[in-house]
Amino acid sequence: MTVEYVCKTPKTMLNKGTGFLAGYTHSLNPYTGCAFACSYCYVRQMPVATFRTSEWGTWVNLKENAAAILQKELRRAKAKGPVTIFMSSSTDPYQPVEYKAELQNLC
Ligand code: SF4
Repeated sequence: MTVEYVCKTPKTMLNKGTGFLAGYTHSLNPYTGCAFACSYCYVRQMPVATFRTSEWGTWVNLKENAAAILQKELRRAKAKGPVTIFMSSSTDPYQPVEYKAELQNLC
């Protein structure tokens, strides 16, 4: 299956931990989308996937400047108290493109 890769600049890397992630202060998805396309993936039913015209598993957005944005946000969040992060609630953190991207350096 061909996967489309697009670089996007995120406004934030950290999201507030809500719903089933309420035990964490934040969640962090290093990518949007996923190249693995698992048939059982619950993300297929979530807005991030249903509002797209392309099928889940055929696109991945690389988050441009992710490390610098995260560093700033973490500093701010830690100043307010302890930070606990749930990693990759809607993607797999080990995307094949990471081999080349090295935390989005491809963008
Ligand atoms: S997010 Fe996880 S379960 Fe969903 S397609 Fe990617 S690897 Fe599979």
